[in-house]
Amino acid sequence: MFKLSIVVPCYNEQEVLHETTKELTQIVNNLINEKKITATSKVVFVDDGSRDKTWSLIDEYSSENDLISGVKLSRNFGHQGALLAGVTAASKDSDAVITIDADLQDDVNAIPKMVDKFIEGSEVVYGVRNNRDTDSSFKRGTAELFYKFMGWLGVKLVPDSADFRLMSKRACEVLLSYKETNLFLRGIVPMVGFKSDKVYYARKERFAGESKYPLKKMIKFAADGITSFSIVPIKMIMGLGFFIVLISIFLLIYTIVQKINGQVVSGWPSMMISIWALGGVQLICISVIGEYVGKIFSEVKHRPRFTIERDIYTEKTLKENKR
Ligand code: UDP
Ligand code: MG
Repeated sequence: MFKLSIVVPCYNEQEVLHETTKELTQIVNNLINEKKITATSKVVFVDDGSRDKTWSLIDEYSSENDLISGVKLSRNFGHQGALLAGVTAASKDSDAVITIDADLQDDVNAIPKMVDKFIEGSEVVYGVRNNRDTDSSFKRGTAELFYKFMGWLGVKLVPDSADFRLMSKRACEVLLSYKETNLFLRGIVPMVGFKSDKVYYARKERFAGESKYPLKKMIKFAADGITSFSIVPIKMIMGLGFFIVLISIFLLIYTIVQKINGQVVSGWPSMMISIWALGGVQLICISVIGEYVGKIFSEVKHRPRFTIERDIYTEKTLKENKR
């Protein structure tokens, strides 16, 4: 038997919390009855600075049910920060940690399968969605493009796996030793190593409420993933530079030949086009470098990735360990 914690990041999730609690406690209870996990196993809701009743609900459910606990962050730190906070709190005292979204899009029935793979010796078990029917075609298309691009950049990702996965205590510890401020979990977890496995599941519609990942956040997330893992974009600038120099040499020769032939090159259009084209290219290149400089800027400050305001998980485990 081992102690399992299920970490659930929540941002304004009051509409789904009741149902999520019900389904997760049922799953945990079944596993306890099957004598696979200990009775001290926990669901850990992480309130990521919600502005609705999310925390008061978590607090209420925690006082009613021994299996439920929560961690409250001091403000909104974003999905990745919330996940990290939950894993940090839970991994101290659990043998395995599962992370799952609050909105029941990830199939809770995959949890027992993950547990079985863990018992068989896998330290990281990815939840992989075998369909994306419930996502809009736009989200599906952009996601596919993103995974392709990352693959092309040489970043190893497990395609169609989100932040639904199981990690052993040891894998969590390795994960937490990556101190990057802009942590892109999906990219880091495959770098942890150890024996890994996959569990397939069908991704469902959000149970209630709306997505907390609007387009703007999605773009930032993707850009973060790319610039945290690869400097290929900077190298591409060099290639582009050589290409443009080549064109300019060609134009120079062309102009000289025209001059020798006595044809005066009319200057205005060609000059304007090259000024604007080159100006644009240079600005794009500077902005790519700027992305990386910005990344360095935010990394060197070593700001905390999350701040915990209250930790009911640790409160409960301390009490239980004393008994
Ligand atoms: N989430 C969070 N902090 C945020 C945004 C989202 O903790 O700033 C949580 C959210 O409550 C949910 C999970 O991250 O449990 C995934 O978010 P969502 O379901 O809105 O994303 P989508 O499934 O639409 O990509
Ligand atoms: Mg969702």
